Amino acid sequence: MRELRYNPLTGQWVMVSAVRKKRPWRPRNFCPFCPGSEETGYGWEVLLLPNRFPMLSFDAPKPERAGFYKKARALGQCSVIVETPEHDLRDLDELPIHAVARVVELWKNITAELKRNPHVAYVSIFRNKGEEIGVSLTHPHGQLYATPFIPLKVRLKVQNSREYSKRTGECLFCRLLREELKGERAVYENESFAVFLPFFANWPFEVHVYPKRHVQWLTQLVDEELTDLADALRVATGTLNTVLKRDMPYTMMVYQAPFRGNYDFYHLHVEFYPILRENGRIKYAAGMEMGTWDFTYDGIPEENAEKLREACREAIKRIGARGRCFT
Ligand code: ZN
Ligand code: ZN
Repeated sequence: MRELRYNPLTGQWVMVSAVRKKRPWRPRNFCPFCPGSEETGYGWEVLLLPNRFPMLSFDAPKPERAGFYKKARALGQCSVIVETPEHDLRDLDELPIHAVARVVELWKNITAELKRNPHVAYVSIFRNKGEEIGVSLTHPHGQLYATPFIPLKVRLKVQNSREYSKRTGECLFCRLLREELKGERAVYENESFAVFLPFFANWPFEVHVYPKRHVQWLTQLVDEELTDLADALRVATGTLNTVLKRDMPYTMMVYQAPFRGNYDFYHLHVEFYPILRENGRIKYAAGMEMGTWDFTYDGIPEENAEKLREACREAIKRIGARGRCFT
């Protein structure tokens, strides 16, 4: 059984699937993402693999009617993005810049392909890192969900930025970036991207990565900008892996505009949600966060941004960078 179920209380879709339970037995220490397996073969730098137990697929069955409730076909695609043939790297900051640029280029190409598919309304590209976040396969990889619906959080961002742009004639993200680049919470910038801890951060060391040019999709980025995005992602992860003097577990999400309709007012961006507090303990999204989706922030964002800037300066000595850390 595989279907989408609609929650009329929140406007969210739930992806329901029973096939995921039947995972095949695999020998201990077997990595399905290393070169030379049945699925991966040899001779690649980055690889898009189909998720073997996808929540969504383009041949999903038509669900049975559910009376009062709304269901939909689980149309879409779930893929794994293997970012390097090298098993033992921990994070993007350990990959050379040209390798991260290959990853970002793959994100761009798959976005272009999915944008042409009439079943796809939105694509979520993300990466989970760290045991604490539930990642069992350590081989560097990200994931992709192409959904037939626009996720709730994206709908909210679209709605708010559309209203702002109608009211002021300006892009809300461009305006916000101008504010953040004034310095208090800015962390890093290169020619075409900026990294900052936002005014309204939820997580203690949350960082956002914005292109300086007003674009809606990765498909609009030229090669030089893709390399700058790769550089910004290396520095962002390098900074996070330095700030607490330990590896940082996080979720990263790429936000692009939805595929169909006019989204001229929208602005591509990437957000990192690192889950550790200053003392290295995990901040669990429980209580208020789980119950209301609103966050408590223990500490002062501007002080944590200062710590990130220090970490940034230390990190780029190690990994190199095309731009500069703010002082
Ligand atoms: Zn591996
Ligand atoms: Zn903009």
